[in-house]
Amino acid sequence: MKKVLIVGAGGVGNVVAHKCAQNPNVFGEILLASRTKSRADAVAQSVKQKQRRDIATARVDADNVPETVALIREFKPDLLINVALPYQDLTLMEACLEAGTDYLDTANYEAPGYAKFEYRHQWAFREKYERAGRMALLGSGFDPGVTNVYCAYARDYLFDEIDTIDILDCNGGSHGHAFATNFNPEINIREITQPGRYWKDGQWIEIPAMSVNMMFDYPGVGERNSFLLYHEELESLVRNIPGLKQIRFWMTFGESYLTHLRVLQNVGMLSIEPVDYEGQKIVPLQFLKKMLPDPASLAANYTGKTSIGCWVKGRKGGKAKAIFIYNVCDHEETYKETGAQAISYTTGVGAAVGAEMILTGKWKKPGVWNLEEFDSKPFLDRVGSAGLPWEVKDMPL
Ligand code: NDP
Repeated sequence: MKKVLIVGAGGVGNVVAHKCAQNPNVFGEILLASRTKSRADAVAQSVKQKQRRDIATARVDADNVPETVALIREFKPDLLINVALPYQDLTLMEACLEAGTDYLDTANYEAPGYAKFEYRHQWAFREKYERAGRMALLGSGFDPGVTNVYCAYARDYLFDEIDTIDILDCNGGSHGHAFATNFNPEINIREITQPGRYWKDGQWIEIPAMSVNMMFDYPGVGERNSFLLYHEELESLVRNIPGLKQIRFWMTFGESYLTHLRVLQNVGMLSIEPVDYEGQKIVPLQFLKKMLPDPASLAANYTGKTSIGCWVKGRKGGKAKAIFIYNVCDHEETYKETGAQAISYTTGVGAAVGAEMILTGKWKKPGVWNLEEFDSKPFLDRVGSAGLPWEVKDMPL
């Protein structure tokens, strides 16, 4: 029986705690630590109510390496699951190395002062982790996460050669607010207001934010307008899917969301540059985050489904082949099970299954890895019963 330390008691941390608690044979002891202990306590109470299990809680500032090292040394986890914010990735990786435990996260490092999405800073830990005999698994949420495993499955079991991949992310649900984000507003808005970027014929092509879109018929949801964005998993998949000619990432947005976003951008509310307000420095986007609903609070009234998957084209046995491999997840069902909406749920299940792969030794090697660098089979055999069943459907050639 293993011990796990979960850092971050937000929307995703809540799901990870529930999912680990459902699986006592793997997750023997659970400690949930966060910046605000009362939020960790509220999650622990919900876990006790729904899963009939006690989990311990603690306060930790994950920006502070010595404080985190002390907590790890005291609890002695086999794995630390980082579901705080991308700002904490490097300090938590550092703390895991120093105190001697494995590491997993769901989003690549971002510096608070500039929005850039790249694995460079975390891949730089590779040798140190190898030398210490420790493992770090990067981006084990849904996208990145489960979608990387879908791509690995296509590469290793469904195709001889892959030409193109389109990762398509649709939230077809409705939360009843005029404008809200489904995960941390600051992180979410930084991501979608960046220029779009995709990879074609060996080079990156940059386009203005939200300037390319297409309709796609999402299983379980229907046709939705989808916008080309840059997303971090493209960087690792380009390296790990040999022969790939093009890879793109798409996300759906409704008209009302886009209108609000445009207005907020036009008046400067999405800026991450600090401004002077009555003698105090404030970051407009951080102030906006205060005004928006907490993503976890959307869960109670959420209806509808998410539908996320990978559209892969290539060849098998000399014949052209095209498939869509995907999951459909229902906001109301995930709320009943864990008190969370489907965006937090799909991410949290990806993290819990990735953690299970490490703790059971199915995916275990020293170094810093992305999910598609492991065999997809054990993960896919488990992720359905863990809450995210998947399907493969043929697509027109
Ligand atoms: P939330 O904002 O809901 O939760 C973040 C939690 O981390 C909060 O409890 C917060 O504490 C805590 N936290 C922040 N800073 C620190 C710190 N310095 N020390 C300790 N705890 C801290 O975010 P989400 O749950 O929505 O997202 C969690 C992560 O999941 C993010 O990195 C996000 O990018 C990622 N994600 C990944 C997806 C994927 O598919 N791969 C999809 C969606 C999200 P406090 O309560 O005090 O604010």
